[in-house]
Amino acid sequence: MPELPEVETVRRGLEQHLVGRQIVRVEVGRERVVRRTSPEALIAGLSGTTVVAAQRRGKYLLLPLDSGDTMMIHLRMSGQVLLAAGGAARPPHTHVVMYLDDGSEAWFVDPRTFGEVVVFDPDRVDVELPPVAQLGVDPIAESFERADLRRIIRSTSRALKPLLLDQQVIAGIGNIYADEILHRSRLRPDRSASTVDSRATNRLHEAIIDILTSAIEVGGSTLGDAQYVDLMGESGSYQDDHRVYGRAGERCLTCGRGWIRRTVSGGRSTHWCGVCQS
Ligand SMILES: [Zn+2]
Repeated sequence: MPELPEVETVRRGLEQHLVGRQIVRVEVGRERVVRRTSPEALIAGLSGTTVVAAQRRGKYLLLPLDSGDTMMIHLRMSGQVLLAAGGAARPPHTHVVMYLDDGSEAWFVDPRTFGEVVVFDPDRVDVELPPVAQLGVDPIAESFERADLRRIIRSTSRALKPLLLDQQVIAGIGNIYADEILHRSRLRPDRSASTVDSRATNRLHEAIIDILTSAIEVGGSTLGDAQYVDLMGESGSYQDDHRVYGRAGERCLTCGRGWIRRTVSGGRSTHWCGVCQS
């Protein structure tokens, strides 16, 4: 599932290729991707508008339009935004086609159709898109200092893994990067935030910034079971740097002594080393 680094990679592609383009015409296939509104609302909201910026908050792509509205794209499990030459053969599960004024096309492709595309009024975001209005701080797009994380850690006794995954606290971190960040910080996923001292909080802060930034630099992570690719269809390569995610049963690359454990809670798997994480 695309997380902050993958969505940021897509955002950069959109900034380069979609900003300044006019969306001439729109086709909607599967209605599920526009379930928040309707195909008619998406077509009316996008047709004839020009994309003026490409922004991101957490895992949400936000594309302000010259109409004053904003297009939101959420990739969810398997969504892709692809740019293609006009008339190019479309992959299966292409649910939205945007015809652009230079003859190219932007596609929203999503085999599992959990993703969505919607046009909303940013002044009414709390009513029209509550999950976006309720997002916590984005550690890459916004200012996120050590003191900000210290405030978060001090405010709760929740376990670190669910805390990192809570989009209303910190926006953009999902299952893969939470595991990698906690491993780098040498903190157990089930460790209570109330037991994390300021030195460990600083390690956690550094790991959040470093890991997300490094992953963005190489285009994010593309895993075997997911279809994440960038705007041009290219895979990321940060999966090669994963030290715990997807390595259950392997010897820990960091300490060389522990074995990577995989525990499942609430339908999510957690990967960690019992020797170097405490
Ligand atoms: Zn270890």
